[in-house]
Amino acid sequence: MAGTREGEKTRGEDGRALNALEPSPMAGIYSSPIDLIEETTTVIMSAESETFTFQAEITQLLSLIINTVYSNKEIFLRELISNASDAIDKIRYESLSDPSKLDSGRDLYVRLIPNKEEKTLTIRDTGIGMTKADLVNNLGTIAKSGTKAFMEAAMSGADISMIGQFGVGFYSAYLVADKVEVTSKHNDDEQYIWESSAGGSFTITQDTTGESLGRGTSIKLYLKEDQLEYLEEKKIKEIVKKHSEFINYPIQLVVTKETEKEVPADEEEVASTDDDKKAKIEEVDEEEEKKPKTKTVKETTTENEELNKVKPIWTRNPSDITEEEYAAFYKSISNDWEDHLAVKHFSVEGQLEFKAVLYIPKRAPFDLFESKKKKNNIKLYVRRVFITDECEELIPEWLGFVKGVVDSEDLPLNLSREVLQQNKILKVIRKNIVKKVLEMFAEIAEDKDQFNKFYEAFSKNLKLGVHEDSQNRATLAKYLRFTSTKSGEEMTSLQDYITRMKEPQQNIYFLTAESLAAAKTSPFLEIFKKKDFEVMMMTDPIDEYAVTQLKEFEGKKLVNITKDGLELEQTEEEKAKAEEEAKAYETLCKSMKEILGDKVEKVVISKTLTSSPCILSTGQFGWSANMERIMAAQALRDSSMSSYMASKKTLEVNPSNSIITELKKRLADGSAADKSVKDLTVLLYETALLSSGFALTEPADFASRIHRMIALGLSLGDSEEAQDEEMPELETANEGGETGGLEEID
Ligand code: ADP
Ligand code: MG
Repeated sequence: MAGTREGEKTRGEDGRALNALEPSPMAGIYSSPIDLIEETTTVIMSAESETFTFQAEITQLLSLIINTVYSNKEIFLRELISNASDAIDKIRYESLSDPSKLDSGRDLYVRLIPNKEEKTLTIRDTGIGMTKADLVNNLGTIAKSGTKAFMEAAMSGADISMIGQFGVGFYSAYLVADKVEVTSKHNDDEQYIWESSAGGSFTITQDTTGESLGRGTSIKLYLKEDQLEYLEEKKIKEIVKKHSEFINYPIQLVVTKETEKEVPADEEEVASTDDDKKAKIEEVDEEEEKKPKTKTVKETTTENEELNKVKPIWTRNPSDITEEEYAAFYKSISNDWEDHLAVKHFSVEGQLEFKAVLYIPKRAPFDLFESKKKKNNIKLYVRRVFITDECEELIPEWLGFVKGVVDSEDLPLNLSREVLQQNKILKVIRKNIVKKVLEMFAEIAEDKDQFNKFYEAFSKNLKLGVHEDSQNRATLAKYLRFTSTKSGEEMTSLQDYITRMKEPQQNIYFLTAESLAAAKTSPFLEIFKKKDFEVMMMTDPIDEYAVTQLKEFEGKKLVNITKDGLELEQTEEEKAKAEEEAKAYETLCKSMKEILGDKVEKVVISKTLTSSPCILSTGQFGWSANMERIMAAQALRDSSMSSYMASKKTLEVNPSNSIITELKKRLADGSAADKSVKDLTVLLYETALLSSGFALTEPADFASRIHRMIALGLSLGDSEEAQDEEMPELETANEGGETGGLEEID
C-alpha cells in the first residue's frame, strides 16, 4: 500500500506503533467496511486506534501549558513521580485485602529511563495501572474542577508549579514534551497505549506487540529539542532530590556506565548493553595484560540506581531532621510549591502507639470548602504501609486544611471502610491530632505577623471549629479576631476586648452586618458611642453562626446589639428617665403599630438610639437582619425554615429625635387618619429597614414615597395630578399580602 492515510499505523523500528500522521479528529474512524478490511489486511500487525477529543477546558489547559513562557519546567517530573507513587499506593492498598492482586508483579517501584538516542524520558511504575476506560476518562475527557481554577490562577499570575494542587499535574508533561505516550496495564484489562501531541485529541490503541508491563504504567516523554537536559543523569538526580525525596517507594534511575576494558584481541567484542551489570567481560590478569594480544573496548552497562534512600521522615528522630527536610517532605505530600507555615512532629506511646507529622500550610487551597473535594489531607499509614488518604475519621472537617501523615502501630493492615468508620483507635488518634493542632495554633499565635497570615487564610475554619467543636470551643474562641469600633485598622481578640471594658459594662457587644462600611455607620451603634462601649463588628457570613454557638467568652455574655430587649447597663437615673418616656410615648407607639400592622411585631421606645429617629431590632431567637440576608442568598435552602425563623421586627423609636416628637404631637391631636402622617410612618419604617440591614420588599413604593417628599421639599407640593401620577396610595402600597393595620384605621 502506497502512502498513508489517516488512521493508518506503521511500525517504528523498535516495534512500537507510531502514528503515521499527527492525530486528527478523524483518525481511527473508518468510513466504510472496505476501509476497515483494507486496514486490517494491508497494514501488518497494526492494532486499531481510536481517537478522542480532549474535553474543551483540557485543550485550553494544554495550550496554556505549551505556550506559557516558564522556566521552572522541572516540576513535570515531580508530578509524574507523584502520580506513580499514588498508583502504587492504590495497588498496595487493594492487595491488603486481596493479596492475589500483586500476582502481576510484587516489586513496587518507580523507574526513570532516559534514552538519549530516542530523546525520550520514560517514567515507569508498577502501580495499579489504568484500564482503557481510565485512560480515556482520567487523561482527557473528564475535566476536574481544578482545570478551570488552575487556568484562572495561572492567568492572574500564579506559578505554573502550583499545577499539582489543582489536580491536573499529569498535563505538566507537556512543559517538556511535544508528544506523550502512556502505556498502561491494569489487572482488569489489556495493555493500552494513550498517545497525544496535544492539539485537541488523543488516541488509544491496544498494545498487542509492545513489551508487556505486567502491571503499571509507563509514561514516555518525547522531549522537545530544547529540553534535552532532562536526559542527563545529574539533572534528574538533582530534581528527584529536590522534589521527590520523600516518595515512599524506591525511585530508580537507569544509569548507563561506560568503561574501557582490555580484552584479548582475538576474542569477539563483548560490549553489552544488558541491564543490571549483566555484561560479562573476562577479567584480564595484570600479567597477561602485557601480552600484545589484547585490545581496548568500550563497555556499556546499565544499572538501576536508587535515588531516595532516606527512611520515612516520621520514623526519624525530630532532632535529626532539618527545617529543609520538613519543608521538602511537606511539599512532597501536599503538592504545595511553598513552604509550610507550621509543623508538628510527635509520637504517642502507651496504650496506643502512633507517630505523626502535621503541617499547617501558608495559604488556603483554592477548593477549601468545596463539597466534592477529598475530605482530608492526612495520609494514614499502618506500620509504614500506606493505607489511605481518604479517612474522614482522622480529623474533623473544620481542620480539613491540615496536611500530614499518621502512622499507627495498632490498626490492622486490612482496614475496610466500615472498620475505619467505627474504629476506637482512630477516635483516639483523632483526638490527639486535634490537640496537637491546637498546640500549633498557640505557637503560631506567639508571632503576630505569622498569626495574621494564618488568620487571613483560615479564619473560616476557626469559626467553623467554634461552631462545631463544643469541646474546644472556648480554646478556639481565643483565636477569633474582629474589627471593633475601637480597634482601628487592626483586628482585636475577645480577650483584648475584655481588658478594655470599663465600668459598668458587663457584656461583650457585637454587631453583624454585610460590610464593615455598613457596620461602622449602623444606627445601632449610637448609644454605644455615647457610652463609650466598644462593639465588635462582624462581617463574615459565618461569624453569626459561630458567635451564636459560642454564647459567652470568659464569663462574659456575647450580645448582638441588633436584637431587641437589649439590657444595657443603665444607671438608676437613666432607668427612671426611660420609664417616664415609655409612658409619654405609649400613644405614639400604639398608633404607629396600628399604621404598620403586621410589618412589625411591636413599636417601643429605643434604648439604643441617640440621634436617628428609629431602627428595627429583631427577636432574640429568630434571625437577625444579617442572618436573613445570608439565608436569602442561599438559593437551595429549605424555604420552610424562613417562616418560623424570619425576623420578628421591633420598631424602636427615639424620643429625642425631632421627627418622632413632631409625629407624637400630630398623632396626639387625633390625626392618625391623616394620610401624610401614615405616609410618614411607613416611610420611617422603610428607612429603618435599610439602615438596620434589611432588604426592602417593595422598593418601588418606597421610591414613590421618597419622590413625594422631594416634591414637597421643592414646593412642587400638593398638585393632585402629580400625586396621582407619581405616588401610589398608601393602601395600594400595602396590598401585597399584608393584613390588618391600614384598613382598620380607615
Ligand atoms: P491527580 O494526580 O491530582 O489526580 P493528575 O493530572 O496528576 O491529577 O492525574 C490524573 C489522573 O490520572 C490520576 O488521578 C490517576 O487516576 C491517573 N493517573 C495519572 N498517572 C497515573 C499512573 N502513573 N498510574 C495510574 N494512574 C495514573
Ligand atoms: Mg497528580
